[in-house]
Amino acid sequence: MLRIGQGWDRHRLIPGRPLVLGAVTVPSPVGPEAHSDGDVLLHALADAVWGAAGGGDLGDHFPPGDPRWKEADSALFLKAAVADARRAGFEVVNADATIVLEHPRLAAHKEEMRRRVALLLGVTPDRVSVKAKTAEGLDAAGAGQCVEAQAVVLLRRIA
Ligand code: MG
Repeated sequence: MLRIGQGWDRHRLIPGRPLVLGAVTVPSPVGPEAHSDGDVLLHALADAVWGAAGGGDLGDHFPPGDPRWKEADSALFLKAAVADARRAGFEVVNADATIVLEHPRLAAHKEEMRRRVALLLGVTPDRVSVKAKTAEGLDAAGAGQCVEAQAVVLLRRIA
């Protein structure tokens, strides 16, 4: 049996914060305002995994503002989502994600993100797609005020 889930996340960008995307720190003068490390790609992926497994959302599992998750490495969240899915009897088939960010360009970092996301999902990198787009100067993302990510994850029941 197959199950599909989607996730979306957006964080405001502010000066002096590290820009972490897909567990990769990308050189940037701005980074996400967030309680955790604000990795929108991993947050969207975690929500997609929980969504596919019928397991709630990131805020249910890791309430924002909880001091335990201050500056947390978001890899922890995605690992927790994948572990929950496994307990529910599912493994990841593939994941497809898009990051929307005006600056900096992410082309040089996409492969490393793909490798790291694959490790966290427990699949080979050929089952993970990380795409990057700008917002063509439109809306908050286009003005460089935020970074966004969308993700779709397919799970299958473990035989
Ligand atoms: Mg988030």
